Amino acid sequence: MAFDLDLFVIGAGSGGVRAARLAAGYGAKVAVAEEYRVGGTCVVRGCVPKKLFVYASRFADAFEDAAGFGWTLPRPAFDWPTLIANKDREIDRLNGLYIRNLNRAGVDIIMSRAVLKGPNTVYLVEENRTLTARTILIATGATPFVPDIPGAEHAITSNEAFHLPALPASVVVVGAGYIAVEFAGIFNGLGAEVKLLYRGEQILRGFDGDLRDGLADEMRKRGIDVRVETDVARIDTDGAGYQVVCGNGDTIYTELVMYATGRRPNTLNLGLEKTGIELGWNGHVVVNEYSQTNIENVYAVGDVTDRVNLTPVAIREGIAFAETVFNDNPTPVDHSYIPTAVFSEPEIGTVGLTEEEAREKHRKIDIYKSSFRAMKHTLSGRDENTLVKLIVDGESDRVVGCHILGPDAGEMAQVLGIAVRMGATKADFDATMAIHPTAAEELVTLREKWVDKPARAAQ
Ligand code: FAD
Ligand code: NDP
Repeated sequence: MAFDLDLFVIGAGSGGVRAARLAAGYGAKVAVAEEYRVGGTCVVRGCVPKKLFVYASRFADAFEDAAGFGWTLPRPAFDWPTLIANKDREIDRLNGLYIRNLNRAGVDIIMSRAVLKGPNTVYLVEENRTLTARTILIATGATPFVPDIPGAEHAITSNEAFHLPALPASVVVVGAGYIAVEFAGIFNGLGAEVKLLYRGEQILRGFDGDLRDGLADEMRKRGIDVRVETDVARIDTDGAGYQVVCGNGDTIYTELVMYATGRRPNTLNLGLEKTGIELGWNGHVVVNEYSQTNIENVYAVGDVTDRVNLTPVAIREGIAFAETVFNDNPTPVDHSYIPTAVFSEPEIGTVGLTEEEAREKHRKIDIYKSSFRAMKHTLSGRDENTLVKLIVDGESDRVVGCHILGPDAGEMAQVLGIAVRMGATKADFDATMAIHPTAAEELVTLREKWVDKPARAAQ
């Protein structure tokens, strides 16, 4: 059977763009449909604008810390419209770059919503036409999820946070995952009064316990009101601001409510069920290790598959897909030991197992950790602790987890990820010469096993 195309990609985000370009490079005739902006979440309303906001917010600390080093500064003033305009200019530049790279690769860009009409057929909604393709790749990403509570329509999500007309004086952030803690730090650094409300007992569920406790402490020291075990019952408005009514009866008055309560895969009304494609509990596309769905010629990569929802993972899955299908080189994606950073204030960098996971998985584990004040703060006077923690398999001596809370933790985790993936042992860490004076030198100078109080009592 003759098809219009070799590959049709739905969604021009991190995963879809990489897959489309590579497949075209292997000689395939490719088109990609995009309903919003080429570049996807990461470039347009995720990693990139978020990190630019993080940089903006961190100047507050730099100005404060400078005094201890002898600097006298005029009272700094911050202008939100300047930040937004400069950020928008950079996003436009990146959007243009993505379009040019797709054009250069020979990929046809179709600015339209696309839905599946069959295993080989897509319908282009804005253009009211269909196209056929031998292979279809679903790379539609995910979208913010807001729980259905009374007044939920008053809350914004990260999508709107990038386009606020003014910096609010007060913000209530609901949730305690990546986006919630990052935006709490951003708004706080830029000068807003921030409250973070979380339903569970500690922020950042799934991260190492010491990092969770350490970050919550540091956020509170910075003036963020972190309230755990706090549900939101409803949001009211009097037109001027909002009242967030909590399950425990507390009412909080605020200028802005931002929900960061997770994201859901973009599979709604995409025609997947009708085509017989298997979906998981939260609507994600179920795929095998080659990102192939239960329909042989239909694949899916990135957030829409809800495996590990990070840009480098979506890109790697896109590459592996193109290798497998268009270069006759079956390539599974290894989702183990993925380093990750949370751009909170201070930052988190982590790779491998948390202490809690390691205790479940290994018969014997050794913990090494150190909490210290970075040298810079001896003069800045800032009350901030850096935490470095290694989890070691007590039987093989392999380092199975590294966790850092402190400045540049993300940069450190990227490099540590190589060592941990390669199977470095604690002896390898110890044999590595330190770089002095750095915070990272703690990673190779930790010698004493951590014996916590309950363990000591048991001995
Ligand atoms: P996306 O990049 O979301 O691309 C999907 C594209 O498909 C979108 O452009 C969408 O408009 C389009 N689309 C959807 N449905 C259709 C349709 N029917 N027809 C046509 N087009 C369609 N990850 C990191 O690694 N580091 C970070 O620092 C980081 N920060 C983040 C900050 C925020 C605020 C958010 C929201 C996310 C962040 N992420 C970060 C996650 C990262 O953005 C995603 O993991 C990544 O973008 C996933 O890529 P993707 O290709 O799966 O989907
Ligand atoms: P997360 O899944 O990280 O966090 C969601 C938060 O919302 C959790 O605290 C969760 O609580 C809470 N929550 C979920 N449902 C409800 C509910 N019904 N009521 C109240 N609270 C609720 O999602 P995010 O939206 O923060 O981010 C989405 C993903 O994007 C991240 O998981 C990550 O993969 C990616 N990302 C990566 C970044 C990075 O690399 N630096 C930055 C930003 C995003 P509980 O834990 O109790 O379920």
